[in-house]
Amino acid sequence: MKIAIDGPAGAGKSTVARRVARELGILYIDTGAMYRALTWKALQLKINLSAPEELHQLAADTVIDIRDHGDGTRIYCDGREVTSEIRSPEVSRMVSVLAADDKVREVMVEKQRAIASRNDVVMDGRDITHCVLPDAEYKFYLTASLDVRTRRRGQELENQGYEVDLEQLKREIMERDQLDMSRKVGPLKITPDAVVIDTSDIDCESAVQYVLDIVREG
Ligand code: C5P
Repeated sequence: MKIAIDGPAGAGKSTVARRVARELGILYIDTGAMYRALTWKALQLKINLSAPEELHQLAADTVIDIRDHGDGTRIYCDGREVTSEIRSPEVSRMVSVLAADDKVREVMVEKQRAIASRNDVVMDGRDITHCVLPDAEYKFYLTASLDVRTRRRGQELENQGYEVDLEQLKREIMERDQLDMSRKVGPLKITPDAVVIDTSDIDCESAVQYVLDIVREG
């Protein structure tokens, strides 16, 4: 079974996807975490994100691993756990630049398809419904108003100990959405066969139940 979920930052995708995967007893793959892990490494190595050759080499040479430990997904970059580092504001600011590179996307999409070919998955991201898993049995597009998404991301960052300026965060989310929607390869978009769920006025638990109802009805 393949369940594909796309949507912009802060729409509740990872919360919903993780819970749906757990309910169904299948694997959850957060593809955003994969792009974040590569961005984290690029920042560590001070790689020029606007130099395609360097980015391509980086994508080809990096081993990214996602493991489900029961208490949540952990992400590893070349064997080192980077689960919390990849959520830093610095990584968030740069990830969409790296993710706009077509060769980087080619490498990532290949890794994601390989995981999905071996497992039943709930996979979330920006291009899953139309690029990574166009044949997924179930497709969803999660969205919410910009204000709600900003508040959610702000809460997540505060929980991790960061100080948050909501206006600045809102601008950064808008910029990231814009980059993700306008890139040539794998842009964020709503596919005609995806069920759109607006989580502005509902909690994530209701969205989880809605998704599960659709999947269980078959
Ligand atoms: O989902 P999350 O907000 O963690 O994703 C971080 C970034 O990774 C996105 O803003 C986007 O630039 C990139 N991404 C992508 N394609 C995906 C998943 C994430 O380009 N399938």
